[in-house]
Amino acid sequence: MQRIREGIHIRTMKAKRKVEDISKEDVQAFFKKHAFVLFTVAAVIVGIILGFALRPYKMTYREVKYFSFPGELLMRMLQMLVLPLLVSSLITGMAALDSKASGKMGMRAVVYYMTTTIIAVIIGIIVVLIIHPGKGSKDEFMKQSKIEDISPADAFLDLIRNMFPPNMVQACTQQFKTKYGKRIVHVTVMVNDSVFNLTNLTEQITREEVIPIPGTVNGVNALGLVVFSMCFGLIIGNMKEQGQPLRDFFDSLNEAIMRLVAIIMWYAPIGIMFLISGKIVEMDDITEMGGQLAMYTITVIIGLSIHAFIILPGLYFAITRLNPFIFIMGLVEALITALGTSSSSATLPITFKCLEVNNKVDKRITRFVLPVGATINMDGTALYEALAAIFIAQVNNMDMNLGQIITISITATAASIGAAGIPQAGLVTMVIVLTSVGLPTDDITLIIAVDWFLDRLRTTTNVLGDSIGAGIVEFLSRQELQAKDVEMGNIVLEERKKPYQLISQENDHENAKRPKTESKM
Ligand code: ASP
Repeated sequence: MQRIREGIHIRTMKAKRKVEDISKEDVQAFFKKHAFVLFTVAAVIVGIILGFALRPYKMTYREVKYFSFPGELLMRMLQMLVLPLLVSSLITGMAALDSKASGKMGMRAVVYYMTTTIIAVIIGIIVVLIIHPGKGSKDEFMKQSKIEDISPADAFLDLIRNMFPPNMVQACTQQFKTKYGKRIVHVTVMVNDSVFNLTNLTEQITREEVIPIPGTVNGVNALGLVVFSMCFGLIIGNMKEQGQPLRDFFDSLNEAIMRLVAIIMWYAPIGIMFLISGKIVEMDDITEMGGQLAMYTITVIIGLSIHAFIILPGLYFAITRLNPFIFIMGLVEALITALGTSSSSATLPITFKCLEVNNKVDKRITRFVLPVGATINMDGTALYEALAAIFIAQVNNMDMNLGQIITISITATAASIGAAGIPQAGLVTMVIVLTSVGLPTDDITLIIAVDWFLDRLRTTTNVLGDSIGAGIVEFLSRQELQAKDVEMGNIVLEERKKPYQLISQENDHENAKRPKTESKM
């Protein structure tokens, strides 16, 4: 008994000493290091509490808009940076590598995007088929309205058209979108009157024909800017000294934008808090939600969780043999910003900061992989589109055969590539998936009530997918990066005046400083 007491006493003393050893500086250092993460997490918690506390006051639409104003400001600030950030990072990222290295890296990124998107679609389909949230009746859903139809072929062609914007200035504000018009056509038909006079008569008839006409919608044509910036960066990278002023310019622009991001990040927690509480105040009463819609919401959450917590971390671990959850911890601010803004392109500046500062991913990778990922790689959206399409089929009591399920998989993948990284863009591209298998497009309105919420979750999954992709591509490209570093080192030794090492230089310093923080699993 005496010994146990002594043991406890010794242990208590040790713990006490340890606590005493924690100086004020240690605590300060901890809070300083994790300040952003702590603020951001606190913002979400306070936002949720504030939102629910204000709900009983039944604010008017106008009051909610005023209340969410600080959140709206955050959205605007982030969106302000997206365009210069996307262009400058892609150009400098591409210019830093020779065409062979960027070709290899590009290949890896594309293989990763395709693999994870297809896995996401498959998970969505399996989960919705197993849980079967749709019960074959539409009675419990809210009133429907008309949705504008678009043919899958035109949507696909629009995707390719948008890759090549004829006017770069317009591409910063508008995208191409096929609209439909009517045209009167005169058709000459043969009337065989042979019974009476053995001659063929012709008759002119007029009919209306629906024709595709060029149209535009507002919004940055990110795809066009990505294609242009990649080609431009590649070219100036190959231009050696001649391309140097342009490389200097875009590198400096990129650095300046990242410094602006660092300032905005201090405001982000406040903005996120108001975005979240504003949305909670505004949302419809969840208890009034019908059983099918509730089951649908749960199904989407399960699907996204499997992808985000099992597949993506599993893939990261399988390839890099590093602990994926340490990597994900470094992304907390970006993930919460995605949750708050429901826009992966508005989150892009924060994603950059998290990957480069917290996870120490090579800038040559982030600058290249992240803008492309934020534009075309949307695992959460792909999963959701396939799942929602089958849910709508279930509600309509339609059985999907294998061919239709394969069609849904392909169109959901294409729709996720075509969806812009803005709030609820996935809902718009859903039309393509539904038309491809002959489902009523107006039924999209059945799921609108919960889409604002699911959009936040799928955006978070999208951002996670892009970030893990950057980590994986960095790991797979380490040889090319090292080779380039050596090459750059040689250049620096031989020709001291050439400032080629714009990106590598910074990375060299950082790489030298950097101990690999991730522990082995
Ligand atoms: N809001 C999503 C994003 O920005 C796109 C979607 O609606 O699925 O990634």
